[in-house]
Amino acid sequence: MSKLIAFAAIQGGYKVVAEVEGQLTRALASFDASTKVGFPNTAYYLPVIYSLLGIKVETLEDLKKPLEFARGLLPPHIKLKNWLPYLGPLLDAGMAGIIAYEIKEALRYLNEPDFYIAQEDPDIENGKLWVGAADDTILRKRGVEFVDGSAPGFAAMVGAAPSPEIAKMLVEDYQKKSLYIFCAASHNGTTLIEQCLEAGMQVGWNTRIVPFGPDISSAVFALGFANRAAMAFGGVQPGDYRKMLMYNKERIFAFVNALGDVGTEWGVAAAGCVNWGFPTLADTPIPEILPTGICTYEHVVAPVAHEDMCQKSVEVRGLKVSVSEIKIPCAFGPAFEGERVRKDDLYAQCGGGRTQCTEFVKMAQLGDIEDGKVTVVGPNLGEIKEGETFALGIYVKIAGREFQEDFEPIMERQIHHLVNYIQGIQHIGQRDIAWVRVSKSAVDKGFTLEHIGVALHAKFHQDFTKIVDKVEVTLFTDEKEVAKMTKQAKSDYTVRDSRVDSMTDEDVEIYYSCSLCQSFAPSHVCTVSPERTGLCGAYNWMDCKASFEINPTGPNQPIEKGECLDPVLGMWKGVNDFIAKASRGAIKQYNFYSMVTEPMTTCGCCEAIAAMLPACNGVMTVNREYMGETPCGMKFTTLAGVMGGGASSPGFIGHSKFNVTQKKFILGDGGILRMVWMPKMMKEELKDRIIARGEEMGVPGLYDMIADETVGITEDEILPFLQEKGHPALSMDPLIG
Ligand code: SF4
Ligand code: ZN
Repeated sequence: MSKLIAFAAIQGGYKVVAEVEGQLTRALASFDASTKVGFPNTAYYLPVIYSLLGIKVETLEDLKKPLEFARGLLPPHIKLKNWLPYLGPLLDAGMAGIIAYEIKEALRYLNEPDFYIAQEDPDIENGKLWVGAADDTILRKRGVEFVDGSAPGFAAMVGAAPSPEIAKMLVEDYQKKSLYIFCAASHNGTTLIEQCLEAGMQVGWNTRIVPFGPDISSAVFALGFANRAAMAFGGVQPGDYRKMLMYNKERIFAFVNALGDVGTEWGVAAAGCVNWGFPTLADTPIPEILPTGICTYEHVVAPVAHEDMCQKSVEVRGLKVSVSEIKIPCAFGPAFEGERVRKDDLYAQCGGGRTQCTEFVKMAQLGDIEDGKVTVVGPNLGEIKEGETFALGIYVKIAGREFQEDFEPIMERQIHHLVNYIQGIQHIGQRDIAWVRVSKSAVDKGFTLEHIGVALHAKFHQDFTKIVDKVEVTLFTDEKEVAKMTKQAKSDYTVRDSRVDSMTDEDVEIYYSCSLCQSFAPSHVCTVSPERTGLCGAYNWMDCKASFEINPTGPNQPIEKGECLDPVLGMWKGVNDFIAKASRGAIKQYNFYSMVTEPMTTCGCCEAIAAMLPACNGVMTVNREYMGETPCGMKFTTLAGVMGGGASSPGFIGHSKFNVTQKKFILGDGGILRMVWMPKMMKEELKDRIIARGEEMGVPGLYDMIADETVGITEDEILPFLQEKGHPALSMDPLIG
């Protein structure tokens, strides 16, 4: 922390307390000590003093006690030479200043009863610009907005902008965010309020631009208002200062913008506000107080350019952007999630084996992206003709104070259902094997590709408020760009997958459920363990764990695995209990490590589907991208259609590609050594890992023993190959006992 600013604030504390002591002495000399003092029409006395100290100030005499308290708070003067950087003295000085400022304003009400106009809006014609303390009627009407969230908080603006135009820009930025703008103090002989009026704006409680007063002491009305709201609507008891300050820090999104030279008197006010958790952002180069402690993030940030003031303030205070409207021409919501785009209504499509369609979420730094920006790179739907296919890369950059790289896969997995929420758009799959179908009816309504970005931006803000501050979306349709993005995405997928590589199921007591797909497959529940990633390939154990942390009531719940009922096939009591409930009784139990005996359920998202090949005493698997025939007699699409509805189908299992090379993959049935056929493309994709797994299992040549479509697409065609290679499956126990 800067010594200088602490020095200025503590000096300010002494100055203000001394000044107000003088004023009180003078008032006591000219008025009777029993003279009534206070703010108009309120049951909360002097609200800062009442709420924090529990002191009910009713008369001039009553002012003595809180003022003495303020004096007592003043810390020893700082000797600039050896001073320990400690926030406490600064906070105390600030609090002393705030108490003194409230007394100062009470004395102004006594000495100049007509200085403030007691109504919501100023009386400009008669030169009554300042409204002073809000009375209880205003509190009841407006304070509740702070509690119900229709006003997230306020910007306390002190001083004046360099010009009326800048004042207007600043204030309008805050109005757009539904914040109240509480104005106090002057700079260069003018005030922000006068500048707003000059710029043709209406001021008053009704436009949320509140002219409290022309002096810095009137900023105390903002704090008094916040504290009264906490007492009236938050149930905080007068005198419970700790709770009061915490309530404000946690519930009221307020901050100070200092526009102009920050002297000692502003300095002490700013320090005072830190007690409430309200940081100060200044437009002049005052020393910053960056380390956090009381405020959610930094305490004093400066200098901030005027055009960045709103964004930066909102960011430093941790105010969350709420996007209530999803501005797209189609209806939007879970009701449309399961809707299909049929052949006759199809306008254009991407992915699904015809073109590349990839989705990718990447964390970004807050300063590097622009919230809400959506860009389409390449032809948009207007230029894509009916019946055509196009490539698509959905690239989402997310930044947030609380955002972590671990959250990328979770956000990415949301794209599936969120795009499906758009009426007339169908989304299947994930990662680099997504498939999007756009209907004619959506295009008729005016749907274009950027609306995918608009919807994702809005929903990410709505559903992940805690971790998301900024979302920027790029939609690539230019093939080269899509290929470039896909390459980067794939290398990231590998990194994500490898996060669980060194973990085993025995290492953990907790597995995680995933019920994200229940809207499509109602009885389907994935249980994700370190060695059994979700069948969509998008969620591994780490991802589910992170997802649970972000959203404790969400689709990924921890499952205490409990007693092990079958270590070979992989069955646990805790898991069975959980899935019975989560599938509403449809599934009573399943095995993790078997596709033959009571396998896990499968939904339509699976990256690959394994099937038994009895004549070969082995199994095959086929990935979504492979369009051809397979030795089990069914193509991928047929297999997915047969068993993608959430059932447990003995003899078949949906799984992720990565899972094939995880150690527990159908280990109860013999593991990867049972694998006799897979498409060449999938084999090549997993080559290094298959070779490694084969070696681990004592069959170093396994990779070359697995047949693919170049060998054959029926059991009869591949069997001689397997025999010739000496495939281990042929000499294993019969697959069906
Ligand atoms: Fe979750 Fe399983 Fe659906 Fe993946 S497939 S999203 S893990 S339920
Ligand atoms: Zn699914």
